Amino acid sequence: MSLSESSPTLADRLRHVETRIAKAARGIGRDPAAVTLIAVSKTHDAAAVEAALAAGQRVFGENRVQEAEGKFPALKAAFPDLELHLIGPLQTNKAKDAVALFDVIESVDRERLAAAIAAASAKLGRRPRCFIQVNTGEEDQKAGCRPAEADALIALCRDTHGLDVAGLMCIPPVGDEPSLHFALLAKIAKRNGLKELSMGMSGDYEVAVRLGATQVRVGTAIFGQRDYPAA
Ligand SMILES: *Cc1c(COP(=O)(O)O)cnc(C)c1O
Repeated sequence: MSLSESSPTLADRLRHVETRIAKAARGIGRDPAAVTLIAVSKTHDAAAVEAALAAGQRVFGENRVQEAEGKFPALKAAFPDLELHLIGPLQTNKAKDAVALFDVIESVDRERLAAAIAAASAKLGRRPRCFIQVNTGEEDQKAGCRPAEADALIALCRDTHGLDVAGLMCIPPVGDEPSLHFALLAKIAKRNGLKELSMGMSGDYEVAVRLGATQVRVGTAIFGQRDYPAA
């Protein structure tokens, strides 16, 4: 990798992504302000997050509770408007730690987890916004409820457990046409009266914006390649 003066900085890459989001939104008559950019900082250190904060970014995504606990408490203290999203699978026994640190939990995918989040919320007096993750590609190894189970799980999370369910999240299968998955997620959200759609990553966030994403989760295009795979 070249370290020449012409290589783009993190701030440059952030502006580039923001510009493309705005262009995609305007292209179909959406207000760019209706799309939130989540900077996915997993595997990158606190210094990288600080560089993004210095460039004005305030919304971040992490996929592991423990990794986020190592980086974010101090940053959240320094930047009270920082908003942290959990975008990776959550074990029930980590629900309390997640509720304590994260403002938004995007990976709610089973009733036992919803119950654990509700119990932790009551105990800690913190009620994170939640997204139901839908495994739109019905992949065995992937988290998320099956599309056919989504309506029932949404109702249980909202009505039985009292979670603040804002919307739905999906991660399309690698190699699949993402728009089919984004359209399916939008359809499930609509029939359940949910307004928020968390969909789109570095490779497909413009497609997601065109199909109604209200949040896109972008890591590589902002922070560069990850040195080691995130679990
Ligand atoms: C890592 C990750 C992203 C970001 O992926 P990039 O391709 O690096 O933009 C988005 N969503 C989830 C759930 C992730 O785990």
